[in-house]
Amino acid sequence: MIKTISYLGLGTMGSGMAANLVKAGYKLTVWNRNAEKCEPFARKGTGVADTPADAVRDVDLVMYSLSNDQAVEDVVFGAEGILGGIKEGQIAVDMSTVLPATNLREQEAYAKRGVDFLDVPVFGSKNESADAKLWIMASGNKAVFERVKPVLEHLGQTIHYFGKNGNAAAMKLVGNLIVALELEALAEGLVLAQQAGLDLKTVMEVVKVADFRSPLLVSNGQNILKRDFSPSFALKLMLKDADLIEKFAESLQSPIPALQVVEKNLASAVALGFGNENASALIKALEKSAGVEVKARRASRSTKTQQSD
Ligand code: NAP
Repeated sequence: MIKTISYLGLGTMGSGMAANLVKAGYKLTVWNRNAEKCEPFARKGTGVADTPADAVRDVDLVMYSLSNDQAVEDVVFGAEGILGGIKEGQIAVDMSTVLPATNLREQEAYAKRGVDFLDVPVFGSKNESADAKLWIMASGNKAVFERVKPVLEHLGQTIHYFGKNGNAAAMKLVGNLIVALELEALAEGLVLAQQAGLDLKTVMEVVKVADFRSPLLVSNGQNILKRDFSPSFALKLMLKDADLIEKFAESLQSPIPALQVVEKNLASAVALGFGNENASALIKALEKSAGVEVKARRASRSTKTQQSD
């Protein structure tokens, strides 16, 4: 039974998951590149390591959620990386969104040391991570998955097993292809609605109930109307994922014409300086082209407008 865990990468997603592991009673050690993010954990008595190699020594399970493929390269394969400390019999779980090929390279390196490996990417964002409501996918050896599953149950509301290593990572990219297109659809729709002079609060009320509704459209749409772009899922990470989806689809010669358009809009919004805002800030690239800002009218204003119409 898994009792001791290391969590590496205490960003938006990792910090929520690590906190839930503490709540669930596991003996946790944490590591983060910027050590400040370890402080709230240290204050609660969680072990803090100086390097990834130190963090993973003598625990049953090693978990990490890192920005991108390069971060995984640094933390797993780099000097003082996980591979320098992990030993036979331990299990490693990568929860980052990366290329399936990166997960396969990790699996190979771990296998050489007698370490089992699962790729376990997630859907959901900041709130779902904090509330242990993530939608989790996992792939790798089934018996290893069964050992890790009780831990994952403390982090998410659903867990789907996808077979061999790399498949869960592929599913994550399939899902994020849909997310990117939904965000683009929302942004284009709201800019058009604004241009058409529609009342945007009523537009969102329809989006909430119609047969094309989705929680992602509703939460992002409502935040756009409030001009709240505080990051749950950063725009720069959405652009990173669009790049991964493009590479992955290319490797399989699978057509993604719409994603290529969205990727350009994401890149424009990042170039405008919005990379650290929420992915919904994608709309700012369209707003710039249209010369408008999508914003809910204040009640008093709209009443006035209606009176003068
Ligand atoms: P984040 O808040 O930006 O955190 C990224 C983490 O990676 C931080 O701990 C950061 O360390 C670390 N990191 C980055 N580059 C590094 C490097 N070269 N060496 C060591 N550590 C490095 O990102 P997040 O939103 O938590 O996302 C983490 C992963 O989950 C990403 O792959 C993302 O695509 C995926 N994901 C995110 C969401 C979401 O809604 N946010 C949802 C599903 C999946 P520092 O603190 O030192 O910068």
